[in-house]
Amino acid sequence: MGKGVSGMLTGVKFAFLGGDARMIEVARCVSELDASTVMVGFEKADVSFPDSVKVAFSEEVLKDADVIVFPVAGIDDEGRVPAQFAEQPIMMTEDHFAVINKKTQLFTGIARPRFGALAKRHGLALVRLMELDEVAILNSIPTAEGAIALAMEHTEITLHGSACTVLGLGRCGVTLARVLAGMGAAVTVCARKPSDLARIREMGLTAIPLEHLGDAIASSDVVFNTIPAMILTSDILARAARFCVIIDLASAPGGTDFRFAEKRGIKAMLAPSLPGIVAPKTAGRIIAQTMVRMVQEASSSTGG
Ligand code: NAP
Repeated sequence: MGKGVSGMLTGVKFAFLGGDARMIEVARCVSELDASTVMVGFEKADVSFPDSVKVAFSEEVLKDADVIVFPVAGIDDEGRVPAQFAEQPIMMTEDHFAVINKKTQLFTGIARPRFGALAKRHGLALVRLMELDEVAILNSIPTAEGAIALAMEHTEITLHGSACTVLGLGRCGVTLARVLAGMGAAVTVCARKPSDLARIREMGLTAIPLEHLGDAIASSDVVFNTIPAMILTSDILARAARFCVIIDLASAPGGTDFRFAEKRGIKAMLAPSLPGIVAPKTAGRIIAQTMVRMVQEASSSTGG
């Protein structure tokens, strides 16, 4: 690996494998710090910054890289790499993991168990950026904005004065609840931990324990789910008004019984990757900031 002198990434070779517009911004950021970048799966994208080339997927790309950047969503259980701008599908097999140098740093947003297991089996360090608070908290800002934009698009009322229920008080839940309250919505938050219920009250919002979720849903205009577990089950949804709109932010498959919601005529949608859709530049910079720091730290600790 080259030298990360004075905050620069001179000589560091990055390989970007698929992803969406966020990754173009990440690549632009590292390129500005003098790294070289190879872009796999960006045939249909405008990628024009110095020392960057679009290449086809190959073992050589993986062998040569100091840093490999996977999409925020990681790879699926079949090894498919999601690539919005690709002309050809990209598949990471076990053999591909085997050729990667053990010193190469791997970054992803999230990793399904198989992806994590493959990296581990081949002795590769895989950083899950979205598990880091410093990334997830900032990423919750474009997520909340995207969720609110969707709610506005799918309702006939203003969010101001509406009854909004947020499920979960994690990184996304806190931000969403706070922004909605700032817009004048009457915000209820459902959580399971007594400490979270106390925090919700401290924020001036209505706190409902998760076991009373049905009561909250019954009086909601809009429900935002951030809990990655089946939570909006058919018996809970049966209590929702038909005009209620459900925006499910939780990672796939979400926490909503979508089949039942549709049967009941409730508008419910899984809304993945909102930062990449509504604010790819901001979201890309959030990822780049932490990734660059970690690459520089690794470089200085190995004396590279
Ligand atoms: P987080 O900080 O871990 O918060 C998750 C929340 O869900 C916490 O309040 C947690 O409560 C609760 N929870 C988890 N499992 C639960 C269960 N089985 N029963 C009840 N409550 C449970 O996560 P986050 O960063 O806010 O992200 C939330 C979800 O949104 C994740 O699935 C993430 O992948 C996804 N996400 C989606 C987008 C998008 O664009 N759609 C963007 C960012 C994140 P406890 O603290 O009690 O466990």
